This record gives sequence, C-alpha cells and structure tokens, in this order.
Amino acid sequence: MAKKDVIVLNSHGAGQYAYADHMPKWGETLSVKNWYVAEDGGKGTNVAVALGRLGIDTAYIGKVGNDPWGDLGEKWLKEAGADATYMYRTDEVSTGTGLILIGPEGQNTVIDGDSSSIVLKEEEVIQALDNMKGSTFFVTGFEVPMRIALAGAKYAKKLGMLTVLNPSPLPEEPMKKLDYIDYLFINEVEGRYICNEAEDAELEPRRLMEEVQEIYGVGNVIMTLGAEGSTALQGEEFFNIPPVRVEKVVNTAGAGDGFMAAAIANLVWGKTLKEAMEWAGKYAALSVTINGTIPAYRPLDEVNAFIE
Ligand code: ADP
Repeated sequence: MAKKDVIVLNSHGAGQYAYADHMPKWGETLSVKNWYVAEDGGKGTNVAVALGRLGIDTAYIGKVGNDPWGDLGEKWLKEAGADATYMYRTDEVSTGTGLILIGPEGQNTVIDGDSSSIVLKEEEVIQALDNMKGSTFFVTGFEVPMRIALAGAKYAKKLGMLTVLNPSPLPEEPMKKLDYIDYLFINEVEGRYICNEAEDAELEPRRLMEEVQEIYGVGNVIMTLGAEGSTALQGEEFFNIPPVRVEKVVNTAGAGDGFMAAAIANLVWGKTLKEAMEWAGKYAALSVTINGTIPAYRPLDEVNAFIE
C-alpha cells in the first residue's frame, strides 16, 4: 500500500505560448511577436510537479497519449520526485495541448485543447485510489471530465482523505452540492461567474465567497485575486492576504496552480490555512517573475531564499 501526502487527479498537456499586443476578434488573423512551444504541463502535472519540488510525497493520476508530450509529463513528474505509476497511457488520442495567449501586461488567456484526459476511466481512478488508501490529501480539477473528477473526490472522501477542488475550467452546466469537498480554490473571475456576477460588478470578495459557500456547501473557500493577493472564508472566519509585490511580472500562467500547490504543501506541514496562504502568496509571486509554467515552480530551498 503506497500512502501519499497528496494525490493529484487532473490533466497533463503541452503548453504553446503566443505573445500578443491585443486579444483577437472573431475572424481576425493575429500575428504575434513571439510563439513558442513550451515544456509546460496541464493543471494536474503543474500541481504535482510543484508539490514534488517542495518535497511533498505526491502521486499523479491522469491519462496521456503514447507520444513525446506524454513522455515529457512522465519525465517531469519523476524528476520532481512524484509518483507517475498512475499516469495511464492511451493509443486512442494524443496528449492534449493548450494555447496560452500572453498580453502586454503579462496577463493570460488560456484555450484548452481536448485531450487524452477525456478517455480516462472512472475505474482507473478508483483503482489508483484503492492502491493509495491512507493518503492525506486528494486534489482534482476539471481538465479531466467533471464526472471523473467528482467521482474521484467522493471516493477519496469515503477513504478518509481531505479533498481539494479547483473547478477550472468551470463547467457550463451548474454543479450540484460539493459537500464532500473540504477546500475549494477559485480565482476571482470564477467566483463572479459562479455567482452570476458581471466581471466588473461590485460584490465584495467576502460576499462572493459567502455565496459560493452557500451554493456548494463547502466550508473552506479560497479565492485568488491575481496581483491583489488572495482571500478566504474558513467557516465564518474571513481573511485577506495582501499581495506580494515583485519588480517585474514576466508570466502569470499557472500562478493559480502554483498557489494552490504551495498552500496544500503548507497544510501537509501542519500550518493553518491563513499561514498556508501567506506562504503560497510568496511562492506564487516568485513564480510570476519566471517564464513558463513548470519552470516557474521552484524547489523549496529557492523559495525559502526568495522569502527571506
Ligand atoms: P489564476 O492563475 O488561477 O488566474 P491568479 O491570477 O489569481 O490565479 O493568481 C494566483 C496567485 O498568484 C495570486 O493569489 C497571487 O498570490 C499570485 N499572483 C498572481 N499575479 C501576481 C502578480 N502580478 N504579482 C504578484 N503575485 C501574483
């Protein structure tokens, strides 16, 4: 039986970056100054690699194609010290890709390609979880089909694990109660979407999180606010973590995944949620100063050096 600190069920994919000076309109051909295919992950490999590099005993569950992108995902997991036993392979489709459009201020918009995650089967997830009974945290998100992610979370909860959900990309159909989820990580855009709020609406982050808590029945709601830091509602306790300013923002893609991984690492280390988020804010601030996603998740000694 292989107990882990954290099990991550989510996608692996290859990231392609395009640096644009504006958002294209429908029908427009947009020439960009710089386009490169980065050695970057999907949300699952992002979080698992970030955790592994922080020294957390982590296992990944997901599915990739029998192709170089899948091989790369496996390589990163192994290099980060994460367990890739349940990175299942398929010949049916190739490993997914994502297009990350970076704006002039370093902001990003992501288009996720359909991927091998779609052919991941519920039985494969259950089997992996059965083989890792006694693990502490289970983390998932919706770059694998929502049905599979939520089935995994329910089963992990039944096995006594603490469950974490990042419901991104948000599904078009409304989600039901998520009362088997212990920690819900969202960003502000997602928070407003869940509450049917316009992006520029006035609802305070605290009210947004209260509504999210009410809609889903989740006790711990953590909302990231980009350059404005982060905020959380833990039961009825509200706290706001101020931003960590950095000299130059290079690339914010994957900041949310890194923030969540760093927060979970701290929970594994026995920190409070507030302490976990403070540390995660520093971790994520360092990550936005580095180009790419996987390369921006730094090992523990480097993060500690940045924090001091
Ligand atoms: P996502 O990547 O999911 O959209 P956010 O953009 O909210 O998530 O970023 C996640 C976290 O990364 C923030 O809560 C913050 O701690 C950190 N972060 C993001 N952008 C910046 C920035 N420009 N400067 C410093 N920290 C940042």
